[in-house]
Amino acid sequence: MTNKKKLIIFTDSGDTIIDEATQVYDDRGIVLEADFIPGAGEVLKQLHDEGFTIALVADGEWESFRNVYRVNGLGYCFDAWVVSEVVGKQKPAPIMFQSAFEKLNLTEADRSRIVMVGNNLKKDIAGANRQGLISVWLDWSPRYFHTVEEPDWQPDHIIHTPAELIPLVHMLEAELENQ
Ligand SMILES: [Mg+2]
Repeated sequence: MTNKKKLIIFTDSGDTIIDEATQVYDDRGIVLEADFIPGAGEVLKQLHDEGFTIALVADGEWESFRNVYRVNGLGYCFDAWVVSEVVGKQKPAPIMFQSAFEKLNLTEADRSRIVMVGNNLKKDIAGANRQGLISVWLDWSPRYFHTVEEPDWQPDHIIHTPAELIPLVHMLEAELENQ
């Protein structure tokens, strides 16, 4: 039995946990399976096992995410699933993040202890910054934006591999515990 941690982790999926280049689609455009970014599966499992609450906050189809995380076996690591197809809007829409707050019974006061991890500056980082969350940019994928084009695209932290998330999360958790 692990103690629940203070830090709450919101995470994107595509090019944050899953390598979008490996996605296998059916004829309806639903993703059937995909490979992890090297190390990302181990990181997701470790953070879950350490007692961190983790919400998937991802743009795409519900079926795609269910397929991918059923095949790779790590769907149980998410305490909440927020998927744009179900919500009706994509990040950086506030409702994507607010849906995660609601599913995890979080309030305004919790914002400063939520970290959002993502690869997309325009969606994940800007969305998180506008919500007052701690933003972590995974700069691994060659896809999408690599330049901060707007002031609120500026991430609070930058990592280059999933493994770098572990020490960063531990540091942020220690800061919360020392407050
Ligand atoms: Mg992504």
